[in-house]
Amino acid sequence: MEVLEQTPILAARDLQAYFGSTRIVNGMTIDVLPNHVVALIGPSGCGKSTFLRCLNRLHEETPGAHVKGEVLLQGKDIYSLDPVDVRSHVGMVFQKPNPFPGMSIYENVAAGLTLRGVRKKSYIAEVVEESLKKAALWKEVKDKLKAPGLSLSGGQQQRLCIARALAINPPVILMDEPTSALDPISTAKIEELIIELKKTITIVIVTHNMHQAARISDETAFMYMGDLVEFGQTNTIFTNPKDKRTENYITGRFG
Ligand code: ADP
Repeated sequence: MEVLEQTPILAARDLQAYFGSTRIVNGMTIDVLPNHVVALIGPSGCGKSTFLRCLNRLHEETPGAHVKGEVLLQGKDIYSLDPVDVRSHVGMVFQKPNPFPGMSIYENVAAGLTLRGVRKKSYIAEVVEESLKKAALWKEVKDKLKAPGLSLSGGQQQRLCIARALAINPPVILMDEPTSALDPISTAKIEELIIELKKTITIVIVTHNMHQAARISDETAFMYMGDLVEFGQTNTIFTNPKDKRTENYITGRFG
């Protein structure tokens, strides 16, 4: 039987990332398929977060930081597009929940829309409710939408940040260790949410938790000292890695 090849929604082509003249990421090439979750794993400092931040042009926000190579979003090189436009299509959730201070729960979720000039109140209200539902937070906050975003628990704040990212309807969301500041119950909720969200969006997640990578991702990329050592189906990476370094890492021999 012929296997139809799927077109990647996001792809890195020999992507190299620099801080000044120091190269941190050495030529990453990966394809991310639509409605997949891709996990980036590897020892601390190997370049996972830096690589992730190249995928929506956040890396270049650091003075002296630049990239070589290409990142293709739906076939177009994001480095030839307007960075603001890129970030409308590739959302981001950070390690530490970062609701906008001084803004209510409602305003946090609406922020992306109002920033983009959307004014119609009924439409904004609809999107806020929809996004909070998708982020599995609606039931907990529907009666206190005017409360400050920062009044929520850490796990709720992270789901609020996910709702905020979802509100502008990006096809891809990047997550940089989104559960590392959370307790196990909040972590489990975010993991369930990621599995639910991938029905409609694509997610690239950095995690230092290998169990998490194994639980939620379809493909895993193992990075080591700026190199992509191995990339493939998560099941294969964890049960039958090809490279000794991957094996050593996943069996806990280093990192
Ligand atoms: P990981 O996410 O795998 O822990 P990072 O991408 O955060 O790794 O960091 C990779 C390397 O880049 C590290 O050696 C780190 O010290 C370096 N680095 C991170 N941020 C900066 C920066 N702003 N300026 C210079 N070097 C940096």
